[in-house]
Amino acid sequence: MPMKLSRRGFLSTASATLAAPAVVRAATGDVDVVVVGARSAGLAAAHTLINAGYSVMILEAAARIGGRAHTDSTTFGMPFDRGCSWIHSSDVNPYTPYAREYGFTLESHDGAKEAMFVGHREPTSSEWSAYDRGWRRTREGLSDAGEEGLDVPASEVVPNGIPWSGVSQTWTGPMSMGMDFADLSPVDWWSLSTTKPNLEVKEGFGTVVARFGADLPVTLNAPVTEIDDTGPSVRVESAAGTVSTKAVIVTVSTGVLAAESIRFTPGLPDTTLGAIENMPMGLLAKVPLLFDGYHFGLKPNEWLA
Ligand SMILES: Cc1cc2nc3c(=O)[nH]c(=O)nc-3n(C[C@H](O)[C@H](O)[C@H](O)COP(=O)(O)OP(=O)(O)OC[C@H]3O[C@@H](n4cnc5c(N)ncnc54)[C@H](O)[C@@H]3O)c2cc1C
Repeated sequence: MPMKLSRRGFLSTASATLAAPAVVRAATGDVDVVVVGARSAGLAAAHTLINAGYSVMILEAAARIGGRAHTDSTTFGMPFDRGCSWIHSSDVNPYTPYAREYGFTLESHDGAKEAMFVGHREPTSSEWSAYDRGWRRTREGLSDAGEEGLDVPASEVVPNGIPWSGVSQTWTGPMSMGMDFADLSPVDWWSLSTTKPNLEVKEGFGTVVARFGADLPVTLNAPVTEIDDTGPSVRVESAAGTVSTKAVIVTVSTGVLAAESIRFTPGLPDTTLGAIENMPMGLLAKVPLLFDGYHFGLKPNEWLA
């Protein structure tokens, strides 16, 4: 999501190695490491392990790799990212050099002009000023509270009823952080690490992730149902069969773990279960609309607020 607001905080450096790996194919049987989930986290883990010389099998529940990174390149006559589309913190994001190396087209989205409509017309200059004020008041309320370390609902620290603030609060809460603005913690928002520029991929971010995983040993349609660590090796049960391994890396979302879709034996420690429960998933779904004809006068790289 575009980060309209500047933030401070520590930079998390991604440790994934993005060099093309030597491919190790493994069938059901024995491998050094099983990775559960073939999306960004799982694919990066597999690249790193394979580069270090381990045999790896990735088990993916879906019929494609990518998880929440998925570009639909057919429905709209142009690539559309159904999930993630912005490469945030592109100065330290390992996907940036990878996408460049593989010839993807990267566009900076910072400072991209916003388009907005009030009914059927463009906003007046005083409406634009009010809109900017709404953003500023939202940002200031969150920044002041975040810097103080306040872990309270954002709605308690941002004044109510600021004209136009519905837009800034929608972008900041559901669109940016995957949760309703009222439930957003200022301290979480403040400590989120995001540096500029934010990039978009013309061919789709999902296409980059799909390329990243294309040469890896992924078994699709293989939801893992059980991980048993009570024997001499770890036993992993999936729809594709049984695998024995020395280690398992689980990269499914906390939502999948909270639903207990995978049975762990022995069970997960209480502290892990507590962390999963306390880190619920937000809900964000894009609803694309395909118009017949060209109606909004948008220029390339402009976005509709
Ligand atoms: C609409 C939307 C927009 C977003 N926009 C951005 C953005 O612009 N920029 C950004 O950085 N982030 C964005 N995000 C967030 C980003 O997509 C996710 O943080 C990221 O994709 C998570 O990757 P992951 O590998 O942790 O998990 P996931 O992508 O959820 O991958 C987990 C994988 O595990 C698989 N799995 C689940 N259960 C099992 C099982 N039992 N056995 C085997 N496999 C299983 C799933 O099928 C999936 O492939 C967006 C998310 C959404 C939904």
